[in-house]
Amino acid sequence: MTPIEVIRLYHGDIQTLFFDEPTPIHGYAIKHPRGVVLVDTGFGNVDGFPWAREYKIQTRAMDAVLAEQDLSLADVTHVLVTHLDHDHAGQNFLFKDATFVVQGAELDYARANARAIGEEPSWDFPQARFEPIAGDAEVLSGLTCLFTPGHTPGHQSILVHDDEARQVIVGDASYTVEFYEDPSSLGEDHPGFAMQVRDPGGHEIWQQSIEKIKNAHPTEVHFCHDTRILAPGRS
Ligand SMILES: [Zn+2]
Repeated sequence: MTPIEVIRLYHGDIQTLFFDEPTPIHGYAIKHPRGVVLVDTGFGNVDGFPWAREYKIQTRAMDAVLAEQDLSLADVTHVLVTHLDHDHAGQNFLFKDATFVVQGAELDYARANARAIGEEPSWDFPQARFEPIAGDAEVLSGLTCLFTPGHTPGHQSILVHDDEARQVIVGDASYTVEFYEDPSSLGEDHPGFAMQVRDPGGHEIWQQSIEKIKNAHPTEVHFCHDTRILAPGRS
């Protein structure tokens, strides 16, 4: 099997109480024999997003993001959705013909939240082709969704495995290398705790998910808000 190429994309920046300096928003494009598979679509339109100014959000249009990699919107056949937060699923509406693979638990959670605040989210457009899954699933050969709740109740991380490597895109299962390496460094009194861990299952569920990712024995670990790439076992 030819190696599966994972390309990091730069979707813009976000700055919050926790991220006290501009922090990148990364998605990924995976060149798979079946087509181009995206992991997350970046922030969409910030108009109407209540914290747009406070979070100093800079967004980039997906057609321009993909063009940097000589790719186009039409090339994308699948989107593997880590979770349905605005900075990860905000430009879903541009991919009308793609299949969106998402945990059913995440879809339920995010739709309930949107209803509660009267929002019409850009990720949930009419005719969106969602393919809800429950738990771990190899959705295309060499691409496995790992159910990793903790950040949100239906969060998933993406394991890209071939003969050469086992790369994991953690999504927001961990914002940073430090939280990933030592989840106990994020105590409940940490200023980032409430943002990092939103699942009612709390710290325990979140920590179990990080353990689960480590137990998948990745050779490379990619993050969505940290540009560093971990290569466990290599120094
Ligand atoms: Zn995020």
